[in-house]
Amino acid sequence: MRIRVLGSAAGGGFPQWNCGCVLCRDARAGVPGVLARTQASLAVAAEDGAWLLLGVSPEIRTQLEAFPALHPRATRDSPVAGLALANGDLDHVLGLLSLRESHPLRIFATSAVRRGLLDGNVLFRTLDRFPGQSTWTDLPLGEEVPVVPGLALTAVPTPGKVPVHLEGLTAPSPEDSVALVVRSQSRVLVFAPSVASPTPALSRVLLEADAVFFDGTFWAEDEMERAGTGHHGARTMAHWPVGGSGGSLEMLATLPARHRFLIHVNNTNRILRDSSAERAAVRAAGVEVAEDGMELTL
Ligand SMILES: [Zn+2]
Ligand SMILES: [Zn+2]
Repeated sequence: MRIRVLGSAAGGGFPQWNCGCVLCRDARAGVPGVLARTQASLAVAAEDGAWLLLGVSPEIRTQLEAFPALHPRATRDSPVAGLALANGDLDHVLGLLSLRESHPLRIFATSAVRRGLLDGNVLFRTLDRFPGQSTWTDLPLGEEVPVVPGLALTAVPTPGKVPVHLEGLTAPSPEDSVALVVRSQSRVLVFAPSVASPTPALSRVLLEADAVFFDGTFWAEDEMERAGTGHHGARTMAHWPVGGSGGSLEMLATLPARHRFLIHVNNTNRILRDSSAERAAVRAAGVEVAEDGMELTL
């Protein structure tokens, strides 16, 4: 299984357009050790020309252009064979609308995520200009589904929340947020960009994974408040803080997976600075911070 990190930042990217925090300023200025990042997405393949994208970020176009394996091989063509959604937050789905140039798309999502995007949304009609332009396949929780040649996918529910634009409109569902578990023969990849808290089912899949890309949004519960960028706590935004006692880093440090990454990192998170104490703690736990353009083979 071949894996490419297309993007590694949380919603808003790094730097974020309206943020002048010290990290965003340093990323903008090109300070060494503070790498800019696009919004989180992975590309995965078992076979050449049959790539599955996990997340379709608003920056999909530059992400595809930056990776030659995803370039067209003919006048009208794409090696992207499938698109899987972990939740309906705009940073994970907005890129679908950028793939509207009359190309057949195969999209995999839970029914709650699909309905949240399609119901009453006129913009998605642009992916239905002709029969078969977009084909949606529901991911039933906990059931493995074949997705593209050589890869099967299981959606494992993670404690989450409805997307901000659906708050007050739809009842919360266990299908709102999932970890995407990709299997190729005996190799297992887990992409879990939004996890409010641990669960036994999630622990089970993490224990059998060869590579884990885990929610690295916030280091601390009150990080937004302290950075002066917001008032919401990490957990109310459905993100388990990485640092401190009871943080996700303690759990990640105990996993047998050879490759353990934090991804979906918010621009306020000090792990984005190579020289920070937080980054040193991540390193000491045997975990890495994902970077755009990283590749690995399982
Ligand atoms: Zn997100
Ligand atoms: Zn910032």
